[in-house]
Amino acid sequence: MNYPSITHLLNDENKPYFEATKDQKLVIQYCSVCHTHQFYPRVLCMNCFSDAVQWVEASGKGKLYSYSVVKKTFIPEYKDKVPYIVALIDLEEGVRLMSHMVDIDEGDLFVGMEVSVVFREQIGEYKLPQFVPAK
Ligand SMILES: [Zn+2]
Repeated sequence: MNYPSITHLLNDENKPYFEATKDQKLVIQYCSVCHTHQFYPRVLCMNCFSDAVQWVEASGKGKLYSYSVVKKTFIPEYKDKVPYIVALIDLEEGVRLMSHMVDIDEGDLFVGMEVSVVFREQIGEYKLPQFVPAK
């Protein structure tokens, strides 16, 4: 399924994240002063308030922190997708992001399972990072 364009939601802070998805790369911010990663994108480091944040490619590997199976939706674009799995993923770099789990049945999910990122679906001109069980 392809999602509608999100161009109207982009700004200077989040655009690099979406641009990287065109090359199937998952990028997060890294502070070169206190050496921590952060997500979601912000102008300043939320750990030390430095503006020395830069974009780095994440490994794309992490663990499932939590999830919810959506069986009913009122969002027209998602109507054909139910049931789908909304997931909180803890990346190896120490940041948490919200995404979808795919390629897995609800009954096989468990908190702490190892996952890795895939880029299969389009959101307008960008790709949607989703996660699958790690092999
Ligand atoms: Zn910092």
